[in-house]
Amino acid sequence: MFYSKLASEISPYTAGEQLNDKKYVKLNTNENPYPPSPKAIEALKNYDAETLRLYPDPSCRKLREAIAQAEGVTAEEVFCGNGSDEVLALCFPAFFDPDGAGACFADITYSFYPVFADFFRIPTKIVPVKEDYSFDMQALRKTNCQGYFLTNPNAPTSLGLPLDEVESFVKDNPDKIVIMDEAYMDFYGQSAVPLTKRYANLLVVKTFSKSYSLAGMRLGYAVGEQKLIDALFRMKDCFNSYPVDGLAQAVGAASILDRAYFAERIEMVVKERERLKREISLLGFDVLDSKSNFLFVQFAKTGGEYAYRFLRERGVLVRFWNKPRLSDRCRITVGTREQNEILLEALRELV
Ligand code: PMP
Repeated sequence: MFYSKLASEISPYTAGEQLNDKKYVKLNTNENPYPPSPKAIEALKNYDAETLRLYPDPSCRKLREAIAQAEGVTAEEVFCGNGSDEVLALCFPAFFDPDGAGACFADITYSFYPVFADFFRIPTKIVPVKEDYSFDMQALRKTNCQGYFLTNPNAPTSLGLPLDEVESFVKDNPDKIVIMDEAYMDFYGQSAVPLTKRYANLLVVKTFSKSYSLAGMRLGYAVGEQKLIDALFRMKDCFNSYPVDGLAQAVGAASILDRAYFAERIEMVVKERERLKREISLLGFDVLDSKSNFLFVQFAKTGGEYAYRFLRERGVLVRFWNKPRLSDRCRITVGTREQNEILLEALRELV
């Protein structure tokens, strides 16, 4: 009875389940199956625990410098948050008005956007994806809105939007902000970060959770023109001055500067992705052309829910949504070769 209308009425985001009743091959939250960089682990071990007495740097200066170096931008063009979810959340009050034309995104995309919009009372404009699950760029262009959220590669479809299409879209919408959610971009290699130098309406959001194997650390960032970054700082300082703890700042910086390890692990995931996609297709299941670290697999005969339960009984966790156009599919994270073999074994039984 003490709940606000918002607290009683909003439908919160539901993250992938974290079951503990037995040991699972966990392929349901798109984590990286490999450990973080040895340099990140070293930074963690060498962290001076006594400094935990002090608040961390609220501007994340050193971490932003490391990110800037890796991304080829300046530290002033970088903002850091507690996971890219927090960065994306802050984008809503930073760039959208409750009485504005709305935040526009696809119907099948990251399901946190409508929750953030409700939380900040920002109107939304939802544009259906095409029959083949790709973004309908024409329909998006025609939508009257304050700006866009485009996930690239998209989740849960895994499809990628080529950089030239991103550029023409950003160019054609100079009065609207375009927020590219590139959580999975490192598995595709078509990042829009270099375009942020040329387009004042482009903000790119990335994460340490996937390609850097640091989902447990909660670290994400945005790259864009300094004015956009300043807006995010303004919002952060209305909510939490210190969202990124000192440990995360140190580990994140060490991790992003280890380019060799990063490149090596990306290659391993991408190689396994292509192999797994081939194997699953050979079993007769439709798999979309993934540019990410997960596959979007159709279970035409049984439906997605049956497949999800079948796999769970055999110790493999995947993600299922009981929603239109998603319910005959599951989203399956690419694991290690050993994990993928266990998945394939179970799928062979399902055929
Ligand atoms: N964007 C997309 C498309 C995602 O799938 C996720 C992971 N659930 C995130 C952002 C958030 O990732 P994180 O908060 O771990 O950086």
